[in-house]
Amino acid sequence: MPKKPTVDKIVDTPASSVKFANQGKCWAEPFGGCGGPITREHLATEALFQSKVRVHGGIYGTEGTETSIRKLTANILCRDHNSEPGRTADAAALRLYRHFQSSYKPMELHGSRVLRAPIDRRVSGVNFGRWFCKTHCNYMVAHGMTPDPTYIQYAFQKPTSKPIYIYLAADVGEAMRLADGRDPIVGWKQLLADDPAYDCFSVSLSGFESVVTTAPLNRNGKPMLDRVRVLEWPTALGPFRIVFDWSKEPPVTT
Ligand SMILES: [Zn+2]
Repeated sequence: MPKKPTVDKIVDTPASSVKFANQGKCWAEPFGGCGGPITREHLATEALFQSKVRVHGGIYGTEGTETSIRKLTANILCRDHNSEPGRTADAAALRLYRHFQSSYKPMELHGSRVLRAPIDRRVSGVNFGRWFCKTHCNYMVAHGMTPDPTYIQYAFQKPTSKPIYIYLAADVGEAMRLADGRDPIVGWKQLLADDPAYDCFSVSLSGFESVVTTAPLNRNGKPMLDRVRVLEWPTALGPFRIVFDWSKEPPVTT
């Protein structure tokens, strides 16, 4: 009698068959500083997620699919360009995300037992801005598109050849839902500008959305808020405040 076939490996599709573009080359290479072999880069910061993620858009289509965060990777950065932003840019995004989450439980905050108002939370605006640029470059490159080199420069703190505007997508005074689970943890959209020479995008972290561009923008004829300095909202213990530090930004060379 012939031996029964056995299944020793279950290959899950389609998420595992997804192929990103431009692999095998470091996208930060034009500005130098490459070191080590090409490594796996998580398109969206791994530390922000549990192991399972739901992804849609781009090559995943509008329906989307559930996959592992480990599969949302592409070999598009060298070892050195992959590791440094983990300690700076990714760390700033993670820190902000945790501040959003902790603001929901003011009675569990440090000092809350003596009913003290929450202390100011600080986040490096520059590193958060670098996280925007890095995330944008990841998605662009992995989808076969070319990001504006200015974003590569900002992501790696090189002097930028053009100014970068990092606008708050909401109006000043507008209420935002932050980290309440209704928005994706990381959202990225390429925005179409009137002039195709501009590479404009929106990136959001748990409901906190920014529009990043190299051309100044207006919204309904009003200037938009560039580089938010303070986010503030009321809690049972008084205002919860997050302060962004934008010092040490790379200079613009014109
Ligand atoms: Zn590199």
